[in-house]
Amino acid sequence: MQISSLKYPRTPQPPTFESFAEERLHRKQRLAAALRLFSRYGFDEGVAGHITARDPEYPDSFWVNPFGMHFGMIRVSDLIRVNHHGEVVEGNHPVNQAAFTIHSQVHAHRPDIVAATHTHSIYGKSWSSLGRLLDPLSQDACAFYQDHSIFNDYTGVVSQLEEGKRIAETLGSSKAAILRNHGLLTVGSTVDEAAWWFISMERTCQAQLLAQAAGSPRFINHDSATLARHQVGSHYMGWFSFQPLYEMIARQQPELFE
Ligand SMILES: [Zn+2]
Repeated sequence: MQISSLKYPRTPQPPTFESFAEERLHRKQRLAAALRLFSRYGFDEGVAGHITARDPEYPDSFWVNPFGMHFGMIRVSDLIRVNHHGEVVEGNHPVNQAAFTIHSQVHAHRPDIVAATHTHSIYGKSWSSLGRLLDPLSQDACAFYQDHSIFNDYTGVVSQLEEGKRIAETLGSSKAAILRNHGLLTVGSTVDEAAWWFISMERTCQAQLLAQAAGSPRFINHDSATLARHQVGSHYMGWFSFQPLYEMIARQQPELFE
């Protein structure tokens, strides 16, 4: 019997939606769940960090976590919607100015993406201080091979739209950027994908820091790294990799849906 004739269950696929309201709720639920997971992973640092999801009906605005609320407490009803002027148009909480200046420009420059994430996670910011791209040291690291960039121009807390624009231009068409002396930024065609790339990139930074501290790690060659990127670094694999984490946090912390 040929393998192709065997009947395997199909892997899950991203959902489709009948209405903006349905799609908006889905994005907000994934956003709240991703924030809870970021808390679980310890990516929070005081009030720093944000995940944004573009609104399906008003695509020049995005949903984001409120400024000053712990990732681990956020519920769907806490999320705020911010327009392209930086005004909170839905919700009763303030917005982090840096969230607006960075994410509004990333969303404007990348109409293909739905979500963007950025935090001051420990391994990401440690790696970022080296001012270097990540190397293809493992299969997981290959998701970022020739698909991330570095913003080498830290000038203080991002408060000007002009700097957000330069970060967005540096990101280009890739899935992630290393903001030197600051932290990581990832994007995705779903909230799920953007959140997974952040989790994976943070761990990739940790792995490279460990490997370099222990010795001189060997690189995966260009052809194999490129193949592996196609295999583990696709939009679908980013989305799919997030699903077990989502199922876990949804079951353990159902109040996130309130
Ligand atoms: Zn930051």
